[in-house]
Amino acid sequence: MNKAFFIDRDGVIVVETDYLSHPDDVEIIPGTAEALQAIKAAGYLAIIVSNQSGVARGYYSESDVGLVNRRIAEVLAAQGAVIDAFYHCPHHPEFSGDCDCRKPEPGMLLTAAEDHQIDPAKSYMIGDKISDVEAGRNAGCAESVLIKTGHGINEATGDLKGITVADDFAAAVKMLLNKTK
Ligand SMILES: [Mg+2]
Ligand SMILES: [Zn+2]
Repeated sequence: MNKAFFIDRDGVIVVETDYLSHPDDVEIIPGTAEALQAIKAAGYLAIIVSNQSGVARGYYSESDVGLVNRRIAEVLAAQGAVIDAFYHCPHHPEFSGDCDCRKPEPGMLLTAAEDHQIDPAKSYMIGDKISDVEAGRNAGCAESVLIKTGHGINEATGDLKGITVADDFAAAVKMLLNKTK
């Protein structure tokens, strides 16, 4: 069985721009490539799991999501870093009905686990929303970390009920990899 870091996209590895839909707007958060290299060196897969309700809302199409993901992969590749797979949920309950993939539901993580023979219990989730953390917990991840970039600046306040918090993606990866040593 493989192990993985499940990683939210917007506000975690790319700067949050609210409904990012054009490749030209992709800006990778500093430290991301190095953190992805550390994930690989430690023997984990790097899997993006992203809610993209902008599709259900009609703001952009699934192919726009694909073009943005391709740009992200290109920029990271130029920095020597690899994302193993991208998953997204195009739904929103108000526009397309309920689904089992929109975080906090664990559907994307469970599908990725099946596709890539990943044991969630040996895997981690990192996101900038509490719903990311809940998705990781619902999928049975070993630990799920909330980071303070993107929406995390607003989410990482108040009573976090035992949620682990880190400053950014790179800090979360460092903390989690230190724990597994
Ligand atoms: Mg996010
Ligand atoms: Zn969905």
